[in-house]
Amino acid sequence: MTRTTPARPVSVEALFPELASYRGRTTRLHPRPGRPGMGDSHVGGPMLWPSDEAWPVCHEAHRPETEGYAPAEIRSARAAGVWPRSRPWTGAGAPGEEGPVPFVGLGQFFRRDVPGLAAGPDGADLVQLFRCPLTHGPHLERRYLLRWRQAAETERAGRFLAAPPEVPMLRWEDELPEPCVLHPEEVDTYPWAEDDTLPAPLIDLIDAWEDDQAAEHGPDALSYQGDLSIPPGWRVGGFPSWASTGPMTIRCETCATPMRLLLTADGYERDASSHSWVPLEDRDPSLEGKASALSGQTIGRPTRLRFGRDRDLHVFTCPAAPGHPPRWVLS
Ligand SMILES: [Zn+2]
Ligand SMILES: [Zn+2]
Repeated sequence: MTRTTPARPVSVEALFPELASYRGRTTRLHPRPGRPGMGDSHVGGPMLWPSDEAWPVCHEAHRPETEGYAPAEIRSARAAGVWPRSRPWTGAGAPGEEGPVPFVGLGQFFRRDVPGLAAGPDGADLVQLFRCPLTHGPHLERRYLLRWRQAAETERAGRFLAAPPEVPMLRWEDELPEPCVLHPEEVDTYPWAEDDTLPAPLIDLIDAWEDDQAAEHGPDALSYQGDLSIPPGWRVGGFPSWASTGPMTIRCETCATPMRLLLTADGYERDASSHSWVPLEDRDPSLEGKASALSGQTIGRPTRLRFGRDRDLHVFTCPAAPGHPPRWVLS
């Protein structure tokens, strides 16, 4: 099944003609639980990984934990539609305290499946995303990893890893992604409106329109940020959202070039202010507006992942040299 974003509730460029020259495209990935294969683009599915290549591990010191969840118990609880139970941490010999920790594969994306996905170094057309499942240091920092590949060359390997190494315990249930298939869909998008992301007079116009909307419609008012500019959920390309940090210019730490947004990971495919982006296929056609959006984890929180305290995780890469280290920004 495809996923179709409804037309915006008002025409953005009719309201703000100046915005036309800032129009961009972003590809909504629309992950939904399924059974992706290693040759598919997905979140939380099996990685295309030659069996003679070492799986990535995190060698840093990890914060000691006292309780957690066994991955197998998370899977069986989800299958039964219940929450898994936490249990005491396994203690001495646990990963992180006594040895390297295998990264968790969060997803992989082929350029052949995802319009707008930038190429990696040497034209790499498959990007794989990982996160260390444990935390680091007093600020509970996370470590992410990007692995670029040439899909055709990797597929010629012949033998592939059947099951990646896995930690015996995760601190949180939401560290384990639910395998999801994707339904990529390109939509128009406009920059976040704050500080210098757009000309000041245009931001003033947008703010004034939002004030009028709020005065007229109260809690059901449309907003530029929520309804017109950037869709929620996993997406590729387009503009970063800056809800919790305010706009930032992200520069490459190797060559100082302003970086571009490769993709955005988001724990939720919708939130209270963005219901107008809920695809037609996830609505009850007999109802209208907010009330028509179907509820449930498989639609609202399909991947089960969380990033920070429910923020967007932006992955920035260097346009001058895609092999320069990416930057990971929670906003
Ligand atoms: Zn780690
Ligand atoms: Zn660079």
